[in-house]
Amino acid sequence: MMSNDAAVHDAVESASPAASSDPEHILAALAGSHSLLARHLAAALAELDMQPTALPQRLLDTIRSGLLCPDSTVGIYAIDAACYGEYAPLFNPVIQDCHRIDVSERWRADTDVAKLALPAVIPGVRSSRVRCARNLQGFPFGPAISAVQRKVLEATIVRALRSLSGTPFAATYYSLETMPRTRYRALVRAHWLSEPNDRYLLSAGFYRDYPAGRGIYLSAHGGFAVLVNDEDALRIIAMQPDGRLGEVAERLFALEHLLSERLDFARDEHLGYLTSCPSNLGTAMRASVHLRLPRFPIDQLKDTAHSLGLQVRGQYGEHDPPDPARPYDFSNRQRLGATEVDLINQLYRGIRRLYDLHGALPSDGPG
Ligand code: ADP
Ligand code: MG
Repeated sequence: MMSNDAAVHDAVESASPAASSDPEHILAALAGSHSLLARHLAAALAELDMQPTALPQRLLDTIRSGLLCPDSTVGIYAIDAACYGEYAPLFNPVIQDCHRIDVSERWRADTDVAKLALPAVIPGVRSSRVRCARNLQGFPFGPAISAVQRKVLEATIVRALRSLSGTPFAATYYSLETMPRTRYRALVRAHWLSEPNDRYLLSAGFYRDYPAGRGIYLSAHGGFAVLVNDEDALRIIAMQPDGRLGEVAERLFALEHLLSERLDFARDEHLGYLTSCPSNLGTAMRASVHLRLPRFPIDQLKDTAHSLGLQVRGQYGEHDPPDPARPYDFSNRQRLGATEVDLINQLYRGIRRLYDLHGALPSDGPG
């Protein structure tokens, strides 16, 4: 990991359009990029009345990954809760494009599992996972937090996690600083942890001081975990290797609820839970299932999944290309503008439809 990381790091450091704070240079560097940043930056700068001046450092930090990685889909990360308001002329159109919603609508959560319309076990599903992202009021987000603040944030979260000892969510916190490499790798293989090799996160500054201040609160029997100071301050996860998605969602909601009583989560009445990536706002929840559909032609599968409100990833997540020979990861594409239970119901309806369509394909079909 180290040498590869260093190589990615050097590449990001040497490509430095962000070294210029001149808006003209920045807009020129984005010519040809299809990111949401590239689409909306010029109009946002005009609206922010920043046209002729050098851009402030806070805005440069927000758009850094989109400048360094022109192939980004979104291209901006929030550096703290305040920047969503401060740079609303940039964030709002990006959020509207990501979630296809009107940001002036009020956000509403609903985690009432009685409203889940799913079978106890979903046919064909090999693994179910629901995660939500949370940040804490008063702390900068991953791209901007200092090493000292990150340690304070870790201690704050770990204190809340340790106070779960009398609940069904008692577990152990492992610091990544002291975790043996073999154990770390096993947790990556088991899908609980991810290697710090995402170049979008890297270029935004998420991996500074890695692994200091990071860790995982992991249940001995499996079933749930909380990642601390990952892409967000908390990534709360429930997962199990079967098709019991409703059970997994219920566990996630219960754990999130207990933590919400102990920690002050950053949120907004329109944007919901505030996350570092605008694509995660709102519920900040991604419910996903692993399902093999080997006979589906991949392009047709992606289009059909998209029209059903789903996203297709590979078995190892976001940057693993979907491969028909392995299970796909299907999840809710939208996170803001619908409630938690609605998104899970939509996921179920979508994969049920894909499963049925796949079942009707000839067994000697493509793939
Ligand atoms: P996110 O950031 O939304 O949590 P990623 O795509 O970055 O998701 O994936 C994080 C990890 O979670 C990866 O190892 C991925 O394979 C794993 N994962 C996601 N969904 C499932 C699932 N249903 N079963 C097992 N592992 C999963
Ligand atoms: Mg991820």
